[in-house]
Amino acid sequence: MLICKDCFLDEELQSEVASNANTEGRCEVCGNHGRLIDFLEFHPFFDELLSLFEPSTKSEKTIVDFIQDDWRIFKDRDIANILLNDIISTYAYSFSINTYVDYNLNIQERVAVWDRLKKSIKEDCRFFTNMDVFTQYNYLTPGKSLPIGHKLYRSRITPAGQNKIKCKKMGCPPKELATAGRANPIGIPYLYLSDTAKTTYFEVRALYLDRLSVGTFKTTRELKLVDFIYDVNLFLAYNDGEVSLAETIIKKKIIDAISADLSKPLRRYDSELEYVPTQLICEYCRHIVNADGITFESSLHTGGRNYVLFDENSAQCMRVDLHEITTIDIDK
Ligand SMILES: [Zn+2]
Repeated sequence: MLICKDCFLDEELQSEVASNANTEGRCEVCGNHGRLIDFLEFHPFFDELLSLFEPSTKSEKTIVDFIQDDWRIFKDRDIANILLNDIISTYAYSFSINTYVDYNLNIQERVAVWDRLKKSIKEDCRFFTNMDVFTQYNYLTPGKSLPIGHKLYRSRITPAGQNKIKCKKMGCPPKELATAGRANPIGIPYLYLSDTAKTTYFEVRALYLDRLSVGTFKTTRELKLVDFIYDVNLFLAYNDGEVSLAETIIKKKIIDAISADLSKPLRRYDSELEYVPTQLICEYCRHIVNADGITFESSLHTGGRNYVLFDENSAQCMRVDLHEITTIDIDK
């Protein structure tokens, strides 16, 4: 079957078609005119990927749902149907394009490590939790560095009738006042920062006409961070061949699950018990991985990135600006 790059949404697959297409004409799948490649070239990759799934009575998703929802590989579901069906019939899979499937039990079992850890630390053993699985598989490694002098931001709501908050008050609270957060345990303050001033407006959940003191911080040394935004490309990972697709998928699913818990906004009615698992992950990153902090996506500002630095002296407040919230997006 001759296909063109427009059949894919995934950029790596698109560029693979663009650089290896050896004929030109009308794509047999999407109908676009362009340079074409035989889909057979991609069979080994998709065969390895689809072999990680099996029929499931508990699932309500098909192979197309998984491939598109988790990995956004094809331009649309119709194209996914045609091309995945080609793989399923060529390699005589035990499921069809309409069968409800799930990742195989080994993958599900491995990914469930985070749920098991959360349950065990909340209900069984707080201070001697076994983290061997995380060490064994190296799920958490310093994957992002910030150079010295990198700017980060932190806002606080300015108390009524007061001028902007001073630089020295923009950092962590003192230990005796440090309440528990998603990252830090009570009494052990960490420095919470964001990539832009705008992300901080959302993070402090500023209201209309609030006056914010916005601190611009600079990192005082190079920082190594564990990155909970794990943007892995399956086709690249497959071509690298360093780890199997199964291992790549397991790592991505575990990092995403931890990341979702890290970025959940704090709520007034939360029990502090809810924060213990992510606090454990941060202590692991700090004391076992020897990272200077972590970074993860802001759930309150799409595309924004948050930073948690374990040592409050690793970034210094350089200036504070006042910012009044004058518009509010009611949809947020
Ligand atoms: Zn096409």
